Amino acid sequence: PEKSEDNLRSPICCIMGHVDTGKTKLLDCIQGTNVQEGEAGGITQQIGATYFPAENIRERTKELKADAKLKVPGLLVIDTPGHESFTNLRSRGSSLCDIAILVVDIMHGLEPQTIESLNLLRMRNTEFIVALNKCNSVVLIFSNFHLDRLYGWKNSRNAPILKTMKQQSKDVQNEFNMRLTQIITQFKEQGLNTELYYKNREMGETYSIIPTSAISGEGVPDLLLLLVQWSQKTMVEKLTYNNEVQCTVLEVKVVEGHGTTIDVVLVNGVLHEGDQIIVCGMQGPIVTTIRALLTPHPMKELRVKGTYLHHKQIKAAQGIKITAQGLEHAIAGTGLYVVGPQDDLDDIKEVAMEDMKSVMNRIDKSGEGVCVQASTLGSLEALLEFLKTPEVNIPVSGISIGPVHKKDVMKASVMLEKKKEFATILAFDVKVTPEARMNWFKAYIDNLKEQKKKESADEAVFPCVLKIL
Ligand code: GDP
Ligand code: MG
Repeated sequence: PEKSEDNLRSPICCIMGHVDTGKTKLLDCIQGTNVQEGEAGGITQQIGATYFPAENIRERTKELKADAKLKVPGLLVIDTPGHESFTNLRSRGSSLCDIAILVVDIMHGLEPQTIESLNLLRMRNTEFIVALNKCNSVVLIFSNFHLDRLYGWKNSRNAPILKTMKQQSKDVQNEFNMRLTQIITQFKEQGLNTELYYKNREMGETYSIIPTSAISGEGVPDLLLLLVQWSQKTMVEKLTYNNEVQCTVLEVKVVEGHGTTIDVVLVNGVLHEGDQIIVCGMQGPIVTTIRALLTPHPMKELRVKGTYLHHKQIKAAQGIKITAQGLEHAIAGTGLYVVGPQDDLDDIKEVAMEDMKSVMNRIDKSGEGVCVQASTLGSLEALLEFLKTPEVNIPVSGISIGPVHKKDVMKASVMLEKKKEFATILAFDVKVTPEARMNWFKAYIDNLKEQKKKESADEAVFPCVLKIL
């Protein structure tokens, strides 16, 4: 049998923290992309996965002269959404990961979502490393925060942090140390010991802090090296490759030339072209066959458009785009199951639908309420949670995942006869098809005419598509 140390899968690393601390930018910095600037409002809406092969990590960390013996084949990093009501999605992201990066903005210290992320990680006993980001003095023309920087900091692109630190003036070092001390105190208030990583002699008890800049890349080599070294040193058992397929759907997306595809994270096992798979769907379990297994070019993110590499089979851990028939109604955030020769199809179908059941249970049984539509199961759950809170308290009669179609508008207009104020679709991060828009417009006009006839003092009520964010 293979020695387990020689049979490790890539660790899955989740990147968490408060919105705007630089999570997406940090990933961009490592892979040389520009996902962050392409995002709507600069806020990450979905979970995305990026694979960093060992040779790239070796290259990136060579200045550290750690002659790093990399036993893992690479590192799979998962970015999490920044929207504040997305605890649920962040929770899903973090549940996939072996280790995490907790990003803290050196100018802001611990913020509400830092603490929320911290608690999620603690709850799951997930090891993490703190990236103390924005240690630079680049003034960004497009940055929301022009003053978000350490004044007088000397940048040295992609350098290890100790080397960078030595180049700073006494004033800058003092300013840095003052902020660092404050942040260590804030962590202490949360019951956590933290220390600069090169001073940390008791990793495991004390969490390591690595100063970074996602703009000029300082500290990024240190971050990569520590992530890999720490995980392969302490998580051999967890990272030992396991044949049983463990796979989660991150996103359902139409890709030109490929139809509807799903982006998945394969945590364990192997997927093959031609495998029969089952995924959870809006209208029940979807049984289909893998047509193609695609990955972006190494170091490129699944969310980034471009050409893909085709594979006959892929071994975990990896982020993969799968093309297959009938994926239109697949639901992001649920599990993917492979049907083996010995397996009972019905059993697996039932298992696959379990995630959906818990969401269905939250719908108002009275049949009166608004319709909620979101891009993923996770964001839908997050919205349902939000609507249920006492301050909001809006009943929900229907849910859907994916674009708003004509049929969704028709469904929402039914509420015009029951309770007009609920004839609404709350649409989050989804497209509205032109037919649906047309239908909405017609319903609006009809309703206006109706109201005029009655000369009602009420304002016209109509099925409206409301975009949050
Ligand atoms: P996220 O919400 O955590 O994913 O944060 P983003 O990656 O979207 O970054 C938020 C903003 O901070 C963007 O305007 C970035 O350009 C800026 N930013 C990110 N990292 C750094 C950094 O290291 N230094 C500076 N000065 N700005 C940064
Ligand atoms: Mg982001």
